[in-house]
Amino acid sequence: RPRVGVLALQGDVREHARVLTGLGAEVILVRRPEELAAVDGLVLPGGESSVIDKMSRAFGMQEPLRSRIAAGMPVYGTCAGLILLADRITDGIDGQETLGGLDVVVRRNAFGSQVDSFETDLEVPAVGAPPVHAVFIRAPLVERVGAGVEPLATLADGRVVAVRQGVLLGTSFHPEVTGEHRFHELFLDTVRAA
Ligand code: GLN
Repeated sequence: RPRVGVLALQGDVREHARVLTGLGAEVILVRRPEELAAVDGLVLPGGESSVIDKMSRAFGMQEPLRSRIAAGMPVYGTCAGLILLADRITDGIDGQETLGGLDVVVRRNAFGSQVDSFETDLEVPAVGAPPVHAVFIRAPLVERVGAGVEPLATLADGRVVAVRQGVLLGTSFHPEVTGEHRFHELFLDTVRAA
């Protein structure tokens, strides 16, 4: 039974915890280094990445998170979580930092105020049929993808909205709010294999 954490500083923590519990994982809400040390994989939820960044530093979690990621812990980030996993971001606010790990450049709030939320169906070969019904909420976009990074999903115009690099997985959208469990299954498979 995989023992996984959800970083519980801010954001849609409960939604992820519910999906992971439903898939048979033991879920720990992670706020402190001791809790992080107890998990074999971690979900970074959607929410507001600049707030999660600030809180992770205030709670002394930035360094422990960075070193677990560097040591090969599987991580799945959705939306704000993808921003936190990115090595580089554009449009960060207020001295915003990331944890890093994913060799990508991510733009926050990339869809602007006109279409800041939308839903669409995406073909995602890594999770198979049927298409993924994806909900984007003030979503980020992956603007540049490093050599070792596999794009898992793109919008119709080719822009990248899901990526994988080794044990790290990131989506611009929120499977945890639509009953879509296949990305969490992929994450748990990675945790079991790690
Ligand atoms: N715009 C948010 C951020 O910059 C992300 C929104 C989300 O997680 N739904 O962190």
